[in-house]
Amino acid sequence: MLPGLRETVEKHGLLASKALGQNFLLDRNITDKIIRLSLNRQGLSSFAGCNICEIGPGPGGLTQAVLEAAPASLTVIEMDPRCIAIMEELKAETTIPFRIVNGDALAFDLSREIEAPRQLVSNLPYNVSVPLLTGWLKQAGSYRAMTLMFQKEVAERITAPTRCKDYGRLSVLAQLTCGVAKLLELPPECFTPAPKIRSTVLLFTPKTEIPAAETLAKVEKITSLAFGQRRKMLRQSLKTMPDLLDKCRHLGIEPTARAEELPPEAFLQLAEN
Ligand code: SAM
Repeated sequence: MLPGLRETVEKHGLLASKALGQNFLLDRNITDKIIRLSLNRQGLSSFAGCNICEIGPGPGGLTQAVLEAAPASLTVIEMDPRCIAIMEELKAETTIPFRIVNGDALAFDLSREIEAPRQLVSNLPYNVSVPLLTGWLKQAGSYRAMTLMFQKEVAERITAPTRCKDYGRLSVLAQLTCGVAKLLELPPECFTPAPKIRSTVLLFTPKTEIPAAETLAKVEKITSLAFGQRRKMLRQSLKTMPDLLDKCRHLGIEPTARAEELPPEAFLQLAEN
């Protein structure tokens, strides 16, 4: 029988570390709701047959909700050694194959480490959420789905439509590779300690046709230049790539347009040979 999450935190002296982006979810109603909303949206009643990877399980609230959804296996990757003992306790209580990794998720190629079909679940450490997401989006085809919690401001950048102030590099990469649905928004008081900002859970569902890795790398290069000077016209921001300006004209994209006016598909067309 597992102790409650608050008892677990006390027993293990798990004082939250700011450097590790630790804002814990200690209410099982909330962690269950995140998993239930994700499964419902995917038209599933459980994670049966799917290998789940959770990044940053911390005291294990979301981990317990994942285990209750009966995955084929669960891998957790956690940087904080204090949380590893908690994971060992959870592992002892389940018959589900459970692998515990004490390490930095940024250093792992999850598509190699975890057998397909796979899904990612995480209440992400906010300080590394964007680099982690960028890496996963570049390999989006490796995942059935990703259920991820972000600072609301980052979630808004991911889902922003063209011509919106939040629309940028992350919106283009996410929207070219995945369908993105907002599942839930949570106020600061749901977390321990409470952060200053609200949080949003997003579900990423990879598209059936995802651009090749080299094309996505080129999209990244173009969006970096174009949004690096987002107030400037393309003829200015892309001037170090004169071929691209020719291509703009050829594709009917006005060189006087600004980056935020181009939909994700236009960046893809510019990147394609
Ligand atoms: N899942 C837990 C929850 O919802 O209560 C904890 C979420 S907390 C926002 C982020 C977790 O990620 C922490 O447990 C932290 O130690 C861990 N973490 C931070 N940086 C990490 C990294 N680079 N790789 C793996 N885990 C990391």
